[in-house]
Amino acid sequence: MTDCLFCRILKKEIPSKSAYEDESLYAFHDINPQAPTHVLIIPKKHVAGIAELETGNETLAGRLLVKARELAESLNLKSYRLVFNQGAEAGQSVFHLHLHLLGGRRMSWPPG
Ligand code: AMP
Ligand code: ZN
Repeated sequence: MTDCLFCRILKKEIPSKSAYEDESLYAFHDINPQAPTHVLIIPKKHVAGIAELETGNETLAGRLLVKARELAESLNLKSYRLVFNQGAEAGQSVFHLHLHLLGGRRMSWPPG
């Protein structure tokens, strides 16, 4: 999608600070970090959000989670939070599926 911010990041039209890349995923540091570590993990395939995940996307969805765990380990995070914001009212501002990996500080619950 040409008007999607994260598709433009994937095409390197917009710079980002890479944390990981392979044939199906890209991970990069959030431009406005909410914790000392704040990485976004996205599929290279454009999916607007969790609500658009379909049967057949299980591998893609699972890869996001496994990569989050691997990145958390490589970044030495013992505790961390993984977040998918689905929909504007839940805080979603970019409509390309992304998993937030947040760590490096104490977190409260419930989230705001
Ligand atoms: P969400 O609000 O869940 O849709 O998350 C979108 C995230 O993308 C926010 O945490 C933003 O700070 C982040 N973001 C927006 N633009 C960029 C960018 N150019 N590079 C890195 N992260 C970005
Ligand atoms: Zn996109």
